[in-house]
Amino acid sequence: MADTVDLAARDAAHAWHPYTATIDQDPVYPVRRAQGCLIELLDGRVLIDGMASWWCVIHGYNHPILNQAVEEQLGRMAHVMFGGLTHVPAVELIERLVALTPEPLQHVFLCDSGSVSVEVAIKMAIQYWHARGRPGKQRLATIRQGYHGDTLGAMSVCDPVTGMHTLFRGILPQQLFAPAPACRFGEADAEQDGAALAALFEAHHEELAALILEPIVQGAGGMRFYSADYLRRARALCDRYGVLLIADEIATGFGRTGRLFACEHAEIAPDIMTVGKALTGGYLTLAATLATGEVARTISSGEPGVFMHGPTFMGNPLACAAANASIDLLLGQDWPGEIRRIERALAVGLAPCRDLPGVADVRVLGAIGVVELERPVVMRRVQRRFVERGVWVRPFGRLVYLMPPYVVSDAQLATLCEALFAVVREETAAS
Ligand SMILES: *Cc1c(COP(=O)(O)O)cnc(C)c1O
Repeated sequence: MADTVDLAARDAAHAWHPYTATIDQDPVYPVRRAQGCLIELLDGRVLIDGMASWWCVIHGYNHPILNQAVEEQLGRMAHVMFGGLTHVPAVELIERLVALTPEPLQHVFLCDSGSVSVEVAIKMAIQYWHARGRPGKQRLATIRQGYHGDTLGAMSVCDPVTGMHTLFRGILPQQLFAPAPACRFGEADAEQDGAALAALFEAHHEELAALILEPIVQGAGGMRFYSADYLRRARALCDRYGVLLIADEIATGFGRTGRLFACEHAEIAPDIMTVGKALTGGYLTLAATLATGEVARTISSGEPGVFMHGPTFMGNPLACAAANASIDLLLGQDWPGEIRRIERALAVGLAPCRDLPGVADVRVLGAIGVVELERPVVMRRVQRRFVERGVWVRPFGRLVYLMPPYVVSDAQLATLCEALFAVVREETAAS
């Protein structure tokens, strides 16, 4: 216990946590170790993980196969620059990504984080039109309630309300926003939503380089699941108006929505695609931007003849080795069956939340379960209540949600859902 208090105090003195202040912070919980679907705190309490550490840890923590892959690579080299050099882990990963993603995507640019891969995607789209002699096509279109990362270019295409656009007005590029699709996942006809996007394209296609969106599942911007018909319409509009389509699969990739990539729900292929988060099974930070042969060839044969980006830690061998092992581990099991198992358990376990006053919506898709409240939670209080119930669930705003590691057991899923119901009931009664 003394350890916990001491570490929390040292943390509070100097550490700056995601989306927090340095004064009057909410408490943070020191972790000793994590194993499978369990997070063990320094004070000995054990929590069932409902978050997969923000979509990443799909195989659970401390996995022997992933550990071994990283250890073996460590014995060869931890890192080597990717400019002018290459190595087996990177080439194998690139081949895997090309094989698994939609067929037209043939070229892979490795990045060190999701936000960077979005910056790279945006730069590719702009360079593509520059190379085609259309330098006026520099703006991005996107849909409201999206999230694409926290760097400046990525922020410019996040939802303008939740994405802090007021704070950074004047320095963020001004992008164009279509309404968030109202047509929900499973509904067949997104004609009205498509018409709104068409109107935006009609007015602005001369200046549009690309449409960027999260296919099917909008993650941190609102945890919304929209119709595959909308995605098909978006693809068709991009083709009709000469606008590239960037699919940000950083949250949705590697099975989370029930398909390996969410684009598959609509059977469309983007021109540029980003992946990250679960790519390394949550072991190391790594992302990638994939491009079609057409995009890559055009950029490479136009002015200045090269793609202008190159992160220091590009293609880090340890991260690539973890990604290769994670992908093989995923594909080596009946992952669609596991996702369906989790989907059923979430649907059953979260259904009782529908009857709670203060709950606006309950929705489940793949291994994602969302309870949307009418009012925002009080973070400090709600976090403590979840920990007291032995689960790690971290809501934001009006959204309380589960996206556990795929190795979560049925019993653990039941406990997660029961805890979520109990805490939501307490929370909505209190506010
Ligand atoms: C998390 C996320 C990002 C940003 O990735 P980071 O690795 O946090 O920079 C971008 N797009 C989507 C859809 C995400 O979920």
